[in-house]
Amino acid sequence: METTKKDIRALSKEELQDFFKANDLPSFRGGQVYQWLWQKGVHDFDLMTNLSLEHRALLKTHFEIKHINIDVQQRSKDGTIKNAVKLHDNLVVESVLIPTAKRTTACVSSQVGCSLDCTFCATAALKRMRNLNADEIYDQVVAMDQQSKLYFQRPLSNIVFMGMGEPLMNYKNVLGAIQKITDTEALAMSPKRITLSTSGIPKMIRKMADDQVKFGLAVSLHSARQEVREKIMPFATKFPLQELKDALMHWHSKIKKQITFEYVVWEGINDQKEDIQSLVTLCKQIPSKVNLIQYNPIDTASMKQASPEVIEAYIQALTQNRIKVTYRRSRGEDIAAACGQLANKIDAIGKEVRNA
Ligand code: SAH
Repeated sequence: METTKKDIRALSKEELQDFFKANDLPSFRGGQVYQWLWQKGVHDFDLMTNLSLEHRALLKTHFEIKHINIDVQQRSKDGTIKNAVKLHDNLVVESVLIPTAKRTTACVSSQVGCSLDCTFCATAALKRMRNLNADEIYDQVVAMDQQSKLYFQRPLSNIVFMGMGEPLMNYKNVLGAIQKITDTEALAMSPKRITLSTSGIPKMIRKMADDQVKFGLAVSLHSARQEVREKIMPFATKFPLQELKDALMHWHSKIKKQITFEYVVWEGINDQKEDIQSLVTLCKQIPSKVNLIQYNPIDTASMKQASPEVIEAYIQALTQNRIKVTYRRSRGEDIAAACGQLANKIDAIGKEVRNA
């Protein structure tokens, strides 16, 4: 049956307070509801025990509580957990929890599918179905915080927006989720532990800077040469590197934090001296570090990771120029949870998730 009830989780704390006021009830009740929804994470009005039965009944006549459900959970040998997250309209996204000795990192999705066309990414083949709501993004984090406590006896330490979708194409809702993740009346995590990864949308990078965001920024660069980048990320024709560079300089001038460039090295694509030199030049212009990512092969691309010698040449050139570089090898070879492999193929055999 079609419901006319509103999703209560779409309301801000102020709107919840206004609702009570409009019903001639004290507005602090709205604050209590906010805490039940966001700090305690309840999905049932009857669990809001400091509200009277009448108040709960009032809420029930006006609202419903929409929330995600973890549909399938896959656990890798190394502890990595991939969740299939079912949304209220039965669409599915994936999120991944990655434990290491010191951290547990949640990799969250921001869209169902993706509208960008990176040739090396399995999510791109899904096309964009819709943006996730702020609470659908937030719920993934809460679910993985609970898994972290259950399986690794510690709360989540880091969050990366590196799951399905382009977070800057769903800016408002991603920021809404981060607001609750960091709100002391909700999950209360430090924004320093959050990294947003973007394929590089200059206008939105500028907007983030002007909004004075407190979280970290990673940019999926993969090439510092416009003609090469366009080949592997065709949407980049609309966002030339020069514009991206200007936007990143603006970001740095406002936020004062280093930018992380994510970079995969592929054979025959970006494995020449010129590629390395272009990256070094860019990194010297923009305060940044480089995160070399292992390529996780996907069905729809025949690309191949470059040899260890080429990767070593990148590391040497960057290091010689005092640019910080990390190279993380894949862990876990048994579930399809890797960067770029999130494609709702629950039973597929894949590699792992980077970035713990
Ligand atoms: N749209 C955002 C976030 C999602 S992708 C972005 O582009 O940053 C998260 C990271 O995985 C990006 O750095 C992306 O370039 C990388 N990635 C995508 N496909 C990959 C693959 N097959 N192997 C390794 N990394 C991949």
